[in-house]
Amino acid sequence: MVASGNGAPALPAGIRILARGGSALDAVEACAKFIEADPTDTSVGRGGRPNVLGVVELDASIMDGTTHRTGAVAALAGYLHPISVARAVMERTPHVFLVGNGAARFAREIGANRAQNLTASTRKLWVERLGKAGETPASVRRRAKLLGVVRKTVKEERGTVNFLALDRRGDVASAVSTSGWAYKYPGRVGDSPIIGAGNFCDSRYGAAACTGYGELAIRGVTAKTAVDRLASGMPVDVTAQAAIADANALEDAAFNIVVLSADGAHAAATNREGRRYVWMTAAMKEPATALRALVPRERRGSPSSRASARAGSLR
Ligand code: ASP
Repeated sequence: MVASGNGAPALPAGIRILARGGSALDAVEACAKFIEADPTDTSVGRGGRPNVLGVVELDASIMDGTTHRTGAVAALAGYLHPISVARAVMERTPHVFLVGNGAARFAREIGANRAQNLTASTRKLWVERLGKAGETPASVRRRAKLLGVVRKTVKEERGTVNFLALDRRGDVASAVSTSGWAYKYPGRVGDSPIIGAGNFCDSRYGAAACTGYGELAIRGVTAKTAVDRLASGMPVDVTAQAAIADANALEDAAFNIVVLSADGAHAAATNREGRRYVWMTAAMKEPATALRALVPRERRGSPSSRASARAGSLR
């Protein structure tokens, strides 16, 4: 299994499932649930940071790389495990993606665990951020127009958890769960629940999932592009770095990817210093951590940015 750095505490639970012959799909779901239930991770599930109105809106997706069955939810409020609701969308509906009120209605219908995902500490962070924008919970809720406030409340505070798994049968699966961009406009959906953008896998080639500025992964169809690159024979490290070069060619914003190939090779890349990722196999007692390859953004038009563009970016 491979995960974003914040997924480390969950990996032993996922590996236990794989070691006893369980499926990659069960492993990635179990791991995502672990982090969703952890209130100390302020980027996922319970304890995730809310939108500008103080509502924790969760996005999640899960994919089976063998059948390409997938399920996703976005802007889901009031439930503990968006990843399990996403899996139920995949397994129990004729659809792949439910959002907002419809996703919550479906979660209620299947008896999903309800939760108050705004914790005392994330409420405090939200009130502080509103204060810096000259607002209070009461004032912001009264507003007819939110855009001006959101321009002040959103900074580079995002976060997500990615899990990629390869099981004994050679099936690959991937799961992504997030509370998205902190203090976002209500209804903002990032890349995490969008198959092909923040999450994609194909058991023939491998899997990829993103964290960071989700709008970039949507615009670049990043996870699918990465798996296409694996399919074309590109090694995992070059694939991960090409994804960051693509993002860098568009905007200067934090962006990260993890990649796992169908033969178990893995790599991760970022455009910010010091970012890590983790992995674990059934032969390991605990997860290993490594620095992601750094692909810094070059100034537009510099010789090296043109070289990296030739090596794998959009242009
Ligand atoms: N990609 C997530 C989003 O845009 C946030 C993150 O990973 O930092 O919602």
